[in-house]
Amino acid sequence: MTTMRALVFAGKGQPVLEERPRPQILAPTDAVVKMVKGTICGTDLHILKGDVATCTTGRILGHEGTGVVHSIGASVTMFKPGERVIVSCITSCMSCEFCRKGLASHCIDGGWVLGHTIDGTQVEFVRVPHADGSPHHLMSGASEAAQAMCSDVLPTGFECGVLNGRVKPGSSLAIVGGGPIGLALLSSSLIMITRDANRLKIAANLGATHCIAFDPTAAEEVMALTGGRGVDTVIEAAGVPGTFELCQNLVAVRGTIANLGVHGCKVNLHLEKLWHKNIAITTSLVDTVSTGMLLKLIGSGEIKTDALVTHTFSFAEMLDAYSTFGAAAKHKAIKVIIDF
Ligand SMILES: [Zn+2]
Ligand SMILES: [Zn+2]
Repeated sequence: MTTMRALVFAGKGQPVLEERPRPQILAPTDAVVKMVKGTICGTDLHILKGDVATCTTGRILGHEGTGVVHSIGASVTMFKPGERVIVSCITSCMSCEFCRKGLASHCIDGGWVLGHTIDGTQVEFVRVPHADGSPHHLMSGASEAAQAMCSDVLPTGFECGVLNGRVKPGSSLAIVGGGPIGLALLSSSLIMITRDANRLKIAANLGATHCIAFDPTAAEEVMALTGGRGVDTVIEAAGVPGTFELCQNLVAVRGTIANLGVHGCKVNLHLEKLWHKNIAITTSLVDTVSTGMLLKLIGSGEIKTDALVTHTFSFAEMLDAYSTFGAAAKHKAIKVIIDF
């Protein structure tokens, strides 16, 4: 049996490298992809903290990255062995009632499965189910690491933040949480609120008009900036109770709180302050309906994602990559790339 090295969730706080059998094609719709560039997501850190009960120990983590198609099942028509692809965090069967409504995150035989309920991409070879509906071909014109941001970061920011947040020309926008997704969202006049001083600096370089430290005076500062009105769209991009509570203090009348953070515990909803404010709260996992368009914008240079990649590690250094990304503020890390 051919084996390979894999990054495995061995229990709370325990990412380990293990030898695992190389995956085979199990269904005619499968592809096996040899990974080229991988990355670690904030969601992987949530899994390691024990926040994601549906991800059991022994799972190979990872739902992002690029690679080469190694083998395909008999019914795969979109990809051939040898082609370069971007793995999508969402698997779509393309035929269930949810996929037909553009809600692939709820696909009855897919959704977020990679690195969650089936083995993921932080490994040399990964089995990708429903290959015709999930990966995308790599584009020319942008670096592979930049395009790896289309596995999850960019479509999540765009779909769960901008589209769900009903961002319109002239809207004010605040992002609470300066992780890779929060930073990837910076495109126009907006307010960034995060704990990490380095990420505030990067946010300013990427175009944030106001950079505010996440501390007890953050809400007052935003209210001062907006003439006491608050912000039309507040994007929650951290996934902890304190940030969601701050969003509730920032949202303007008829505004939207768009949650994209992965939450592992309950948060307080202050309906006593919000019941009359005509607000909406949206929640979702990315459906990846925008990935193709975002890839084109990266290819044409209209979206630049290179600044998000701060560190590169070899796969053998995977545990160092986890400790660097896990202590991102200390290491000034945003997105780490794993070179296979
Ligand atoms: Zn992710
Ligand atoms: Zn489906």
